[in-house]
Amino acid sequence: MQAPTATPMSEPATTTTPQATVIVGSGLAGWSLARELRARSPEALITVISAGTGDFYSKPMLSNALALNKTATNLVSASGQTHAEKLGVTLRAHTSVTAIDTAKKTLATTAGTIPYHQLVLALGADPIRLNLPGSEHILSVNDLDAYATFRAQLAQAAHPERGRVLIMGAGLIGCEFANDLAKAGHTVHVVDPGERVLGALLSAEDSHALQTALASLGVQFHFGMTAQRVDHRVDTDTQTPQAPRDKWVTLSNGECLCVDVVLSAVGLRARTELAQGSDLHIGRGIVVDAWGQTSAPDVYALGDCAAYASAATPTLFDGAPRGLPFVMPLMTAAKALAQTLAGTATPIVFGPMTVRVKTPAYPVSVQA
Ligand SMILES: Cc1cc2nc3c(=O)[nH]c(=O)nc-3n(C[C@H](O)[C@H](O)[C@H](O)COP(=O)(O)OP(=O)(O)OC[C@H]3O[C@@H](n4cnc5c(N)ncnc54)[C@H](O)[C@@H]3O)c2cc1C
Repeated sequence: MQAPTATPMSEPATTTTPQATVIVGSGLAGWSLARELRARSPEALITVISAGTGDFYSKPMLSNALALNKTATNLVSASGQTHAEKLGVTLRAHTSVTAIDTAKKTLATTAGTIPYHQLVLALGADPIRLNLPGSEHILSVNDLDAYATFRAQLAQAAHPERGRVLIMGAGLIGCEFANDLAKAGHTVHVVDPGERVLGALLSAEDSHALQTALASLGVQFHFGMTAQRVDHRVDTDTQTPQAPRDKWVTLSNGECLCVDVVLSAVGLRARTELAQGSDLHIGRGIVVDAWGQTSAPDVYALGDCAAYASAATPTLFDGAPRGLPFVMPLMTAAKALAQTLAGTATPIVFGPMTVRVKTPAYPVSVQA
C-alpha cells in the first residue's frame, strides 16, 4: 500500500468551530473514530448510532474465544453506555439508519430523524451467504449475537464437549475457527474448493505447514470440494426429525457428513445498501477518497464498509479503491479522519499492513 494517488473528490474544508459528528456503527471502526476524535476535539458533539447494543468488544476474539472458554457476555469489555460515557459521546443504541438525505443533512432512523453536520458510515460488512438447500442451518460468526448462537448450537450437541463442526472455507477465519475448535476438543471438518489452506495468502510451504499442524490437532480437510446441501434427516415412518440437532452435509463428491454445527467462513461483503440508496458512489465498498470522504460532501466512510482510494495501487484491481477489512487499517484511517473532522484536512496514508493469523498450532502472518 502506498501514499494516496487517487484524485480526491474534494478536499474537506478546514474548520475551527466544533461540528456535530454522527457516526453510524459501533464496531471497532465507529468506536475507534469516536475515541480519536474526542482526543483531538474535547468540544466536539459526537453521536454514535448503533443497530445493536453498542457494547464494546474486540471482534477478532470471536475466532479464538472458544478454547479460552469465553462466552459472548465475557467478550464484552464495556457496555455501550459505559463506553459512551467514558468518551463523552451520545449513544443511540437499537437504532437503525434507514436512509440518508445528503441535501438536508438528516438521517431517517427507526427512532426518528437525526440531523448531522458531518456523517461517518462505519457500517461493517455482511458474511457472504451461499445459496444452497438448507442454508438456514448454516451459521456465520461475525458479531456477538452470532457467536452466542454458535455456542448455543454446540451446547445442544449430543456430546457438547466434543461437538462436530463443519467449516466451509479454509481461509483466514476458517483456519482460525478450526484451530480454536480442535484445541477445545471438537471434531472439525474443513471443506474448501481449493487445494490448500489460505491458498491465496500463503506460500505453498507455509500453507502446507499450517495444514499439517491443524491436521495434527485432528482437523479433517476436504479439498477440491464444496458443500451442496444441508439436511435434517426425517424418520420416514413418523415424519419427525431423527435427531433434530444433527445436520447432514452433502459434499460435491456425494460424501455425507453428520455434524452438530455448520459454520460458513467464505468471506464478507461490505455493507453498501444504505449508501447506495443515497446515491453515493459504490465500488467494492463505499468509495472514499484520500481523506475518507464519500462522493457526498461531509459524508465519510470507515472500516469494513469502505473502499479506500488511498489503498489502491495500479497493480491491484487496476488501481480501483479497495477494501481493507482488518483492524490495523481501520485504526490508521480513524486517526487521519479524526484529524480531518477536528478541522485539519489529513489524508489517509496506509503503510505496509501485516495481519497475524491466530492459529497457535502454526502462527503465520499475511499482508492485508
Ligand atoms: C471471526 C473474525 C476474526 C477476525 N480476526 C481478525 C484479526 O485477527 N485481525 C484483524 O486485523 N482483523 C480481524 N477481523 C476483521 C476485523 O474484526 C474487522 O475488520 C473489524 O472488526 C471491522 O469493524 P467495523 O467497525 O468496520 O465493522 P463491524 O464490527 O461489523 O461494525 C459495524 C457496525 O455497524 C452497525 N450498523 C450496520 N448497519 C447499520 C445501520 N443501518 N444503522 C445502524 N447501525 C448499523 C452494526 O450494528 C455494527 O455495530 C476478524 C473478523 C472476524 C469476523
